[in-house]
Formats: sequence, structure tokens, C-alpha cells
Amino acid sequence: MGWFDHLPTLEEMHRTRRAMPKATLPTRKAVKTQKAVTAKAQRTVVRAQAVTKAGHRCEMCHTWLGTHGEAHHKVKRSQGGKWTDGNIKYLCRACHQNVHAGKR
Ligand SMILES: [Zn+2]
Ligand SMILES: [Zn+2]
Repeated sequence: MGWFDHLPTLEEMHRTRRAMPKATLPTRKAVKTQKAVTAKAQRTVVRAQAVTKAGHRCEMCHTWLGTHGEAHHKVKRSQGGKWTDGNIKYLCRACHQNVHAGKR
């Protein structure tokens, strides 16, 4: 057995890192992440509502989309538009692009 037998392996080093105590109070970053997760969950729900309301079809050309369409904001998010049921239009990619091209 040589001296090198006691050098920590990569796995041991990772284990030591994992064993380090975590801060009990959430960090600012953790709070931000939590808020982002909540917002994402809300968007998922609103999107699902819009998909159901649109009957899984594009609201403009009525192409069947299933759940693969895009959520368009009637009021842009940059103009204070929110992820709420009434502000979402369920569109196919082509119509979505047309809407944005027309407004530009
Ligand atoms: Zn369409
Ligand atoms: Zn859009």
C-alpha cells in the first residue's frame, strides 16, 4: 500500500460536499426560484385552460393543435399583460407569427 491509497477519490469528495449543512433560511436566490416555479405552475394552468377553451384548435384558423399550440398574449407582457385566462389566445405557429407580424 502506498501513500496514494489515502487520497480522496472524486466520489468521496462529492460525498463530502453533499454532506455539508444547508442554510436553514432560504437564500434570496432560493426565494426567487420558488417564485419562478409558482409563476410557471400558474402559466401551465392558464395555458391548459386556454387550450381547453379553444377546443385544442388554433383560435384563428381552427387547425387542430392538440397541446402543441402557442399561447399568445392579447396584451403583450411588456405592456402589462398577464398570464390570465382572458389574455391568452391559443394559436398555431403560423397564425401566431402573423399576429405579431401585423402588429409590428
Ligand atoms: Zn392558426
Ligand atoms: Zn404572441
